[in-house]
Amino acid sequence: MDEGTDGTASHAEIRAEVKKLCARFPGDYWREVDRKRAYPGEFVRALTEAGYLAVLIPEELGGAGLPLSAASAILETIHAEGCNGAACHAQMYIMGTILRHGSELQKQSFLPRIAAGELRLQAFGVTEPGSGSDTTNLRTFARREGEHYVVNGQKVWTSRAEHSDLMLLLARTTPREQVRGRTDGLSTFLVDMRQAVTGGMTIRPIRTMMNHNSCEIFFDNVRVPAENLIGEEGKGFRYILDGMNAERLLIASESIGDAKWFIAKAVAYGKERIVFGRPIGQNQGIQFPIARAHAEMRAAELMLREGLARFEAGRACGEEANTAKLLAADAAWAAAEACLQTHGGYGFAEEFDIERKYRETRLYRVAPISTNLILSYIAEHVLGLPRSY
Ligand SMILES: Cc1cc2nc3c(=O)[nH]c(=O)nc-3n(C[C@H](O)[C@H](O)[C@H](O)COP(=O)(O)OP(=O)(O)OC[C@H]3O[C@@H](n4cnc5c(N)ncnc54)[C@H](O)[C@@H]3O)c2cc1C
Repeated sequence: MDEGTDGTASHAEIRAEVKKLCARFPGDYWREVDRKRAYPGEFVRALTEAGYLAVLIPEELGGAGLPLSAASAILETIHAEGCNGAACHAQMYIMGTILRHGSELQKQSFLPRIAAGELRLQAFGVTEPGSGSDTTNLRTFARREGEHYVVNGQKVWTSRAEHSDLMLLLARTTPREQVRGRTDGLSTFLVDMRQAVTGGMTIRPIRTMMNHNSCEIFFDNVRVPAENLIGEEGKGFRYILDGMNAERLLIASESIGDAKWFIAKAVAYGKERIVFGRPIGQNQGIQFPIARAHAEMRAAELMLREGLARFEAGRACGEEANTAKLLAADAAWAAAEACLQTHGGYGFAEEFDIERKYRETRLYRVAPISTNLILSYIAEHVLGLPRSY
């Protein structure tokens, strides 16, 4: 594995191989799934078969046992090549919760089958209509009844729910009024969705401006075996928080990939499109927004590398992970704007793929955490300002 200047592996080989795989899924493939709001099953299957979705699973459990920077390199390349990792990225960041906090039995029963592609762990049920960014205000309740928990409530924006066998669910196990801290009394479960859909769980897709396969989920007395509780009851929020730095770093990687795709596309068109007898890219009005987006992308990339290096060294990385996610999402959006503007009217034509990527990349200034909430985190936890909410 080749080393980056900060000690993080740059995974040049993985990037080259993922690039080859992505070449099998060109723009017309993505246009078709986007038009139908379909799941890009063939693409996800190809990634699974090549072992990319199992890179974080230890070798003894059937995975590649690689560090987070490998997952980052995979997702960045997918996006830089014009594809979309949103259909499967959750498998990479959800994994950490089971790896770090799951029992031996849970790891042995699920991880080898996930690595082999027999089970998909793609759904992450946290957000609820009544809680939104205020996660600890969630109401979905899991009540212990003998050897089971009985779950009632509702989740929203649970992406890939129709295309996942397992869901990592965050639910309340002690009423909020009865716990000391607002983060107490929440627990994490691995829900077998194949069983749950026949036992009280209803999934309803939400049509969105981009193809993201997000759903609402209703739980009506859904029984989850107690052995599927991850770690200790009541400590689930900590386990989820633990995984959030990985999630931020991986989403930042995707946004950096998007920014690179938009910039490359804008530069190519700037050189080739002749208006007033010269390439439009000769005009500073065209150059500057692209150059600025490039500078912003590079800053985000450096912050991402620092975050990954700290994460892999087991050091605190909340500031770096959140900052990388914020900078990368903003850089991708700046690049999207510059690319669309550079293409003039053609930017709106479906066949250029820009309008699709434009819609897709916009999401990351809102989800999985909105820019405002990251700024609040930096203000409070990095700068020591009073908590604002
Ligand atoms: C396509 C898509 C896929 C998603 N996938 C998943 C998933 O798989 N699993 C999952 O659990 N969730 C998922 N989400 C949910 C996502 O994490 C939330 O949408 C996001 O966290 C914001 O929550 P909200 O939509 O409820 O907005 P709200 O919390 O209602 O916030 C609305 C606006 O108010 C701002 N705001 C709120 N409070 C404050 C404050 N105190 N200070 C300043 N500004 C504030 C926010 O920044 C935001 O701009 C997905 C969302 C989308 C759109």
